[in-house]
Amino acid sequence: MPIDTASPVLDFNTASKPSALRITDLRVADIADAPMRCPIIKISTNQGIEGYGEVRDGAHPLYALMLKKHLLGENPCDVDRLFKRIRQFGAPARQAGGVCGIEVALMDLAGKAYGVPAYMLLGGKHRDRIRIYCDTDAGEKDTGEAMGKALKARMDQGYTFLKMDLGVNQLEGIDGAVSAPLGFIEEQRARRHAIREAAVKGDAQTLRYLRHRAYDYENIPHPQTMIRVTKKGFEALEAYVEQARGIIGYDVPLAVDHFGHICLEDCIQLARRVERFSLAWLEDMIPWQYTEQWVQLRRASTTPVATGEDIYLKEDFRKLIDAGAVSIIHPDLLSAGGMLETKRIGDMASEAGVGVAVHMAESPVGCMAAAHTCAAMEHVIALEFHSNDVQWWQDMVEYAPGGRIVDHGWITVTDAPGLGITKLNDEILAARMSKDSPGLWMSTEEWDDWTSHDRLWS
Ligand SMILES: [Mg+2]
Repeated sequence: MPIDTASPVLDFNTASKPSALRITDLRVADIADAPMRCPIIKISTNQGIEGYGEVRDGAHPLYALMLKKHLLGENPCDVDRLFKRIRQFGAPARQAGGVCGIEVALMDLAGKAYGVPAYMLLGGKHRDRIRIYCDTDAGEKDTGEAMGKALKARMDQGYTFLKMDLGVNQLEGIDGAVSAPLGFIEEQRARRHAIREAAVKGDAQTLRYLRHRAYDYENIPHPQTMIRVTKKGFEALEAYVEQARGIIGYDVPLAVDHFGHICLEDCIQLARRVERFSLAWLEDMIPWQYTEQWVQLRRASTTPVATGEDIYLKEDFRKLIDAGAVSIIHPDLLSAGGMLETKRIGDMASEAGVGVAVHMAESPVGCMAAAHTCAAMEHVIALEFHSNDVQWWQDMVEYAPGGRIVDHGWITVTDAPGLGITKLNDEILAARMSKDSPGLWMSTEEWDDWTSHDRLWS
């Protein structure tokens, strides 16, 4: 990948006048497979300091680039004022990625300009180190036993909190485990196969058409699919958890995610059936928008339920909390509204007696933003980590004072300014760019001055 050597980025720090700090540029390093797409953003200033942020995992950097014109010439230390200016361009899940990623970069810059760690901008620390919960795949052979062994390997690495997937995906290949409109599931399988074939052939038009159809399918909400888990299916899922628990034991918390688009009634059956395994929580069983269904789900069993990684801003968390719909909220701060908003969301949940766990599947930049926010929240159960098996993940950055970011299942925040990331390693980033990226830190001047009448009222 080419690197634009004309980048105005300076490698020395002349920041001595925070009140005169001004934003001069915003550029992107669009990283792939870390383990998701992770668009890292860099905001440059007139005093040589840079702020690092990140668009939510899986999203396109476009979400940040389209906001550049709102930032140029502004003082990045006015974090809340600038966030309020761009807030209208966020929406649930990945569509909030640009707004939130910029807020993180502004917090990093404000910390660096004033010489304090980002958690100080959130009111200081409640803890020095943050417990990490490690998302885990079973590997190619997805059985309860394989999952148990994979989870045990995580514990051997020092992790004290675990998560796995459990749902209709584990039932593929078991006759009679799932009931669905005849041909419905086979059609999706055939489409996946056709997409792979079109990709191999390089048939762009067919590929585009099939991906649109797959997108439509994936967005059929749970109550509309009429995919039901049968008695045989429930027994298989129970056996899966029993096998995994049999290997890791009951001392360690185990959360569960990715059930598939099954109806509320089947979610309730599953939640009841797995009560005996003392799971930490069941995550995103149904869409977060269905507040009343969440109330029913929560009241129907003694297994805690959690949602939140796709919710944008505090108000939609408030609806769930006020309704008593969730045991735990699970914001991703790159969707929830950035560091300040997530701190506010965490405080609101704590006041209502609702647990707080934090979703995170990002690069070390998004990770450290989450770690600083977790350090500053009064209560937090654990922070997620998806990249334990990505060998170069840590090497994307240098972390003061040179130690590992995730160390034996914990992250320790330091006194270093901003997010505590002292440098981005451009060589590593250049080697890990997304296929469709134009290059590392390329000029984005086409986004400097575009205009659009974006007022929300007249
Ligand atoms: Mg999840």
